[in-house]
Amino acid sequence: MRFFVTLRMTKEKLKMKLLIGTNNQHKVREIREILDREFPGRFEIFTPTDVLNKSIDIEETGCTLEENAFLKSSEFYSLTKIPSISDDTGLEIDAMKGEPGVNSARYSGEHGNDAENRKKVLNLLNGIPEERRTARFRTVICYIDEGKAEYIEGICSGKIIDEERGANGFGYDSIFVPDSFDKTFAEMSPEEKNLLSHRGKAVRNLVEFLKTIL
Ligand code: IMP
Repeated sequence: MRFFVTLRMTKEKLKMKLLIGTNNQHKVREIREILDREFPGRFEIFTPTDVLNKSIDIEETGCTLEENAFLKSSEFYSLTKIPSISDDTGLEIDAMKGEPGVNSARYSGEHGNDAENRKKVLNLLNGIPEERRTARFRTVICYIDEGKAEYIEGICSGKIIDEERGANGFGYDSIFVPDSFDKTFAEMSPEEKNLLSHRGKAVRNLVEFLKTIL
């Protein structure tokens, strides 16, 4: 009996707490699924609402994806003292000198107006030939624990087409075709997109990083 109690306590102790610092439940589900699959029972995962009993919006005032990811995860870490991860993503278009980049969510002025953001990009690229429409999505995850920050990246390269195609996804999905494909992200199933997307790659790179600290 004593043996079983000790064993259970040891297992509990080995569980690592991790806070996924976002209010976006879609991201939480995606990250949780990958971590549960890679490290069954190894993480006790929290969201800001679980710990703080309210959702917290942190202004993304940084000039880079790294700064924004750091702003969010460091704020969540200081509020909860739980090792925290936050991410930020941008679409970098070569013919537009890397824009919209860190301003991807508010490129047309209004935060989160995906349709207007896409329209602005298509207008700015009007007349640019296919070979110069190269672009990439870049996701940066910042992991913070005890004042240490680690940055983990995921990139998906492709090109911007000249009209919208497909009804799935969000953001710039309907104008982005990843390399080696002829479908946009918006013409793919979520599973298909996750296998090659920037965020999917960043989370898989996060898994590799976590293996080094566990
Ligand atoms: P966030 O950092 O994940 O909130 O992303 C910032 C902005 O980048 C979003 O508002 C979208 O416009 C765009 N974005 C991020 N991820 C994707 C994606 O997977 N597909 C298309 N657009 C995306």
